Amino acid sequence: MKKIYGVIGDPIEHSLSPIMHNASFQELGINAVYHAFQVELENITSAILGAKALGFGGLNVTIPLKEKALDLVDASPLAKKIGAINTIDFKDDILGYNTDGIGAKRALEKHGIDVVGKRVLILGAGGAARAIAFQFAKGGATLFIANRTESRAIELSKEVRTIGDAFGTGLEELPLLIKKADILVNSTSVGMLPKTEETLVKADQMHSGLIVFDLVYNPIDTRLLREAKKAGAVTIDGVDMLVHQGAESFKIWTSKNAPIDVMEDAVRCALRC
Ligand code: NAP
Repeated sequence: MKKIYGVIGDPIEHSLSPIMHNASFQELGINAVYHAFQVELENITSAILGAKALGFGGLNVTIPLKEKALDLVDASPLAKKIGAINTIDFKDDILGYNTDGIGAKRALEKHGIDVVGKRVLILGAGGAARAIAFQFAKGGATLFIANRTESRAIELSKEVRTIGDAFGTGLEELPLLIKKADILVNSTSVGMLPKTEETLVKADQMHSGLIVFDLVYNPIDTRLLREAKKAGAVTIDGVDMLVHQGAESFKIWTSKNAPIDVMEDAVRCALRC
């Protein structure tokens, strides 16, 4: 019988996960299908238990359900630290994981970059920033977390200091921090459709030795990445992380390595074609 997988969130109609995962199932000849399901926060418990009862293989969880979902599953230690999950596996019990951090790590590795010993400036202190902060601190980076709401950056840096070096600040410190940074990660939603001309950092604040990694993938070529190219910096777009976090979910569900290139082609085509 065809196994069912899906993503739950609200809104969900623009999710690229169905395109990405259905391309993988087809490529590997796996008898499965992946759908997007609109689930409001108040319905999350019945949605997860219902999916388990119906024999679903697994779920991805996205905004605004990631934090609440953590309380409804047996979560991995890393997901508990992050405070959110993006993947549920129904194989044994109802197990919860967060693959955003490992997805970001793999996105950098694809470009030959290891965070060990690097000074990483993370913009933002929301869900994605939290996943990346714990992952990169574990990987041996020194983190500078700068957020519009400074108190969230300071709080996150305190939590991360249990495993590595981290300092939290507001956005006014950015010009100085960028000068010292090896890698700049935008994990805010600034630059996302429809406000595509917004950026927290411009070319004249960057240096050519900088690696600029933008999590925003819609549009692919964000204003931040265009500014980084002007400054001669290396750029990495959000599609790489989207694909790699999805590939990690795929591996949790199927125990198979995902066909990364097929997933990436499917996503880039959906965004560009
Ligand atoms: P979130 O939890 O809502 O956090 C949003 C962050 O953006 C907060 O730090 C917020 O600061 C900051 N922010 C929002 N508007 C801002 C503005 N105008 N100026 C300065 N800072 C602003 O969202 P999230 O889940 O972390 O996602 C963040 C972004 O990453 C989204 O664009 C999402 O699509 C993207 N993402 C991409 C991937 C991928 O695979 N490529 C995976 C996950 C997320 P405050 O704390 O001050 O509100």
